Parts: sequence; C-alpha cells; structure tokens
Amino acid sequence: MNRRDVWFSKAQSLDREDSLAYLIGEFLIPDSLLYLDGNSLGPMPLSAKKRAVEVVEKQWANDLITSWNKHAWIDLPVTVGKKIARLIGANESSVIACDSISVNLFKLLSVALLKQKGRSIVLSQTDNFPTDLYMVEGLQSLVGKAQVELQHCEASLLDRLIEERGEDIAVLMLTHVNFRSGEVLDMERLTKRAHQKGILVIWDLAHSAGVLPVALDKYEVDFAVGCGYKYLNGGPGAPAFVYVNQKHLHNLQQPLCGWMGHASPFAFSSEYQPANNINQMLCGTPNVISMSVLDAALDVFDGLNIEDIRAKSCDMTTFVSELIADQPCLNELQLSSPLNVNSRGSQLAYAHPSAYEICQVLIKHGVIADFRAPDILRLGFSPLFLSFESCFNAVEVLCDIMDNKTYLNDEFAQRNAVT
Ligand SMILES: *Cc1c(COP(=O)(O)O)cnc(C)c1O
Repeated sequence: MNRRDVWFSKAQSLDREDSLAYLIGEFLIPDSLLYLDGNSLGPMPLSAKKRAVEVVEKQWANDLITSWNKHAWIDLPVTVGKKIARLIGANESSVIACDSISVNLFKLLSVALLKQKGRSIVLSQTDNFPTDLYMVEGLQSLVGKAQVELQHCEASLLDRLIEERGEDIAVLMLTHVNFRSGEVLDMERLTKRAHQKGILVIWDLAHSAGVLPVALDKYEVDFAVGCGYKYLNGGPGAPAFVYVNQKHLHNLQQPLCGWMGHASPFAFSSEYQPANNINQMLCGTPNVISMSVLDAALDVFDGLNIEDIRAKSCDMTTFVSELIADQPCLNELQLSSPLNVNSRGSQLAYAHPSAYEICQVLIKHGVIADFRAPDILRLGFSPLFLSFESCFNAVEVLCDIMDNKTYLNDEFAQRNAVT
C-alpha cells in the first residue's frame, strides 16, 4: 500500500469503529460539502427544520397569541436552559437561554462586580474573543475606571497575576477554548486559584458547549455564558445561554432588569421585583422562532454522552493533524493549536501567510473552513456529523491547492465582509 492508501484505510477503519456515525442522518448537509465549520455555525438538524416549519405555519399562523400558553412559548428560555445544563455539568435550575453572549456578559459582569465592592479589576486573556473584552471596556466607560478596570495578559501569565494581584481583582473572565488556536484552559485549576483570592469567575463556553465535557457545578464556577449556534446547532443567531451557580442564584442584581426577569411579569407592577431564580437573568421577550429551533436542535443530544463526543473529537483532530503532518505538500502549514490533544478543543488552526486565500479556494472546492485574522486557517471538527473519510477527503483537496498554488490567483484575494 502507498502512503495515501494507508491513511485512507485508517480513516475507513476509524469510521467503522465510530459509535456516533449514525448521527449524520440527523442533519441536513448538502452532499457536495465537506463542512469543517460547525464550530462557527452548526449545520441544520432535521428536528430543527421541522420545528421551524411548525412554529411558523402552525403555532404563529393558527394559534397566534394563545401559543404563549398553548405551545409553552413563555417557558422556552427555561426549557432550553435545562437541555443545555446537562451538557455543561450544571444543575437544571442554573441555566437559562437568552440574548447573545455579549449581552449576557454585560449582565454577569455587573452582577459579579456588584458583589465585589472595593475591587475593580476584571482580568482576562489578551487573545480572548474580542467581544468579551469589548463588553468590559463598555462597562468601564459607563461607570468609570475606579469601578471597573479591564486588564489582560497572555494565558500563561494568569496564575502569576492572580497570585500577585489577587486582592485587587474582582472578576476573572476567561474563555475555556480559545477561538483562534483551540487551546483549552484548565478550568478547575484557574477557578480554584481565583477563589483562593476571593475572585469571582466567569467562563465563556462558546467553543466548549456540546463538544467538551464541562463540570461547572463540580468546580464551583460562579458564572458562565455560551453560544447556541456553534456546536449546539441552534441556527444563525440562535440565543445564547447563561449559567449562575446555585450559591448566587438567590442574591442576584443585574442592571438589564426587563420585565421578563421580574418575579411576576404579568402583574404589570410599576416596581421592579427581581425573580428569585435564574429567570432574573432574562431581560425582554424571548425570540420565540429562534429559541424554538434551538430547542428542537438540542434533541440531537438526547441519550448522548458528552464523553463519547469528546472521544471522537480527539480521535478526529489527532487523525487530521497527523495526516497533515505526513503530507510533504502541506509542510508550509504551521500548526498553531496545541500538539497535545488534551490541551485543545475540537479544532485545528494552521498559520500561513496566504491563509485567507487558501480558505477561499477550499470553499470554492466545497470544503468549508474559515479564516481568522491575521493568518489562521481554522478547521472545525464537529463529531456529530463528520466522518473520518470526509476529513481525509478535505485534506486531499487542501493538498491539491497547496501543490498547484491555485490560491495565488487574484480572484481569491478579495476579502468578504464575513470571514
Ligand atoms: C462566538 C463567540 C462569541 C459570540 O458572541 P455573541 O455575542 O453571541 O455574538 C463570544 N465569545 C466567544 C469566545 C465566541 O467564540
């Protein structure tokens, strides 16, 4: 057997052993696509499509406003929150679906800072997802630097800063899996270190929920947020979620105190009385259509074990990174994700000066990946719908592009609005 055939038969044998392989039948993905971007926008589960039609054609069209009760629209944030709770190691009463990560971070930062009188620093990592940092900056310009002050450092310096400046730090706000490199931070250790200094922690689970085991309750994490449209496959702009640890649930005060977070919204009282549970994290009316679709999409996870999903994800990033490393045609691609599979999420990031153009050619050939500035080609591996053979095929396309240098063609240099 030549080298290519060895890798191909390895892919086939991994597919034969894959106990999650049947799940591909739960998704609607065009046959012509090799979709390595489920980490950015999950594909459409059949259950989601069915519910989208139902909520528009039956519930909204026929039952109109009575649907709030008849189809339990009003409960959707809680119903969806409960389904997500199981995937992130959280008690069912600690999670609710609403708004976006950005808005939810604003609420949680406010809650945490109000609990930390006398401390003002919010410590984060420099290469955090920008919106997370921006939300702290926004709060800082609203209330002043004496109340909120953003500081950030390289992830490798976090322990030292917590040790040295711990008493001044109010909140440690981190993202579990780095959106660019895929590096996983040690949630247990960093949470514990922060707590030893009286710091409250907020974790962003955008690239963890639905693909990595997370144990929020076990590690006594204070607060967390996450995304509905990435590995949870809830559709474009799907609602995000918020987690609040039990110990803080009955003592919350967030500033976006809209009527849906009121103890009894339909009393229409002129005084705000916060709900004494996770509902207080709500602000306005839920996005019923979007939330219904996310609710149905989550049914794909019924009966699945997150450890099994993680195991397949690790096998997949290992298979692809080893395959790429073995291809002379791909030696210009520099792996910028951690080498150790346990230290990376479900993606592989490769640096190359022409990463943008390479990504455009891949897309033209039906391999959907994405580009992250300044020079990263990002390949996402959603274990629920990808086969090892499709990953092998994607690498063949990549090899062909690198061999023929088609990415140097002018037509691929035009930058789109969304990368
Ligand atoms: C995708 C992502 C977000 C998105 O935030 P929204 O406000 O929901 O658009 C935030 N943080 C991280 C780490 C992400 O990867």
